[in-house]
Amino acid sequence: MKMSECIVDCQKLFGNFDRLQGFKLIVYCKQNMKIYEQPRESYFVRNHFCKLEMTSSLAGVSKIVDNWLRECHGSTISLLSPSSELTKLIHTMIMDREESPTCCGFYANKCWRHYLEDVIISNTTYGFKWRSRQRNH
Ligand SMILES: [Zn+2]
Repeated sequence: MKMSECIVDCQKLFGNFDRLQGFKLIVYCKQNMKIYEQPRESYFVRNHFCKLEMTSSLAGVSKIVDNWLRECHGSTISLLSPSSELTKLIHTMIMDREESPTCCGFYANKCWRHYLEDVIISNTTYGFKWRSRQRNH
């Protein structure tokens, strides 16, 4: 599979990314996710990824990140040239979690917050350490 080619295909499809003002490009595989605030920048680096999504809203980013964390328990999220809004959104989402999350109550299928052991931040990259996914229920 040559998924890195996909960016080029998308550029053909959407034309110049510069015209897509406000769109954020999210590329990811099971381990890593990159969020481009300026999708055009993705053209200049080699990206290895399995999936690609574009969204114009912060709520859209939030949903994609949330799903990815839940599904994959991945290793890193990198923000590329993020706006202060995007930085704040991701930072709040990841760092402002409770020590003992109560969000999922007694459901067996708990969200990612219950498994996140530690987060290491370096510049605009978040590295995740996870607890075992074993459940008590
Ligand atoms: Zn939860």
